[in-house]
Amino acid sequence: MTAGLMMHEQCLPIVEETVGELAQCWEGQSPTATIEQAVEAFGESLVLACSFGSENVVLIDLLTRVWPEARALFIDTGYHFAETLELKDRILERYPRLRLEVAKPLLTVEEQQAHYGERLYEHQPDQCCALRKVEPLNRALRPYKAWMTGMRREQAHTRTGLGVVQWDARRGMVKFNPLAHWTDRQIWTYIFKHQLPYNPLHDQGYPSIGCSPATCTAAAVAGADSRSGRWQGKAKTECGLHL
Ligand code: SF4
Repeated sequence: MTAGLMMHEQCLPIVEETVGELAQCWEGQSPTATIEQAVEAFGESLVLACSFGSENVVLIDLLTRVWPEARALFIDTGYHFAETLELKDRILERYPRLRLEVAKPLLTVEEQQAHYGERLYEHQPDQCCALRKVEPLNRALRPYKAWMTGMRREQAHTRTGLGVVQWDARRGMVKFNPLAHWTDRQIWTYIFKHQLPYNPLHDQGYPSIGCSPATCTAAAVAGADSRSGRWQGKAKTECGLHL
């Protein structure tokens, strides 16, 4: 499965007690080195959580160079932009060996609206995210021992302490963030250099793309961090997947 995989000197197992030390050791190493270590340690027990944002298309490209049959997970909230779903199809065409699992909420959008009202995302976004993102992700992650994300420190003030490897205490599993230290410029340089497909909404002022209601995803505020367009006007800054 890992034809291009370099064998790493792995003196420490990657477990709850060691992730802090490993994060320090790995700080500044290339994303590919972190990906190789993650794949080497966890293999089929590792999955990439993917929302098809700019970081995710970079990570899919990097990960499939190491492991062409990589496992990935997409949460289909039922509220995605058409552009996001089209990008998903383009990515699957470009990486036909990628094994993408689509996780869905327990309730359809119609069932949720019948039960909680038309615009739960507007009135109670935390509850909407809990139903449509957090629960499906937690359920889909259950078979795995480690997951990987495209999170970066630069994305938001809540992410400045992000390590390249962490212990996800809530789920009892290891979490890899190989791009933690990458800048926006590095992401876009990589996308253009390798001519990766990306969401056209990025060109319309949306650096961070979530669900389509205007209260959930808007264009970013000039000079603010890249997640400033998410849940604008509300204290909410995260969907709850990464708390
Ligand atoms: S981002 Fe908005 S629509 Fe999507 S799950 Fe959260 S509150 Fe609901």
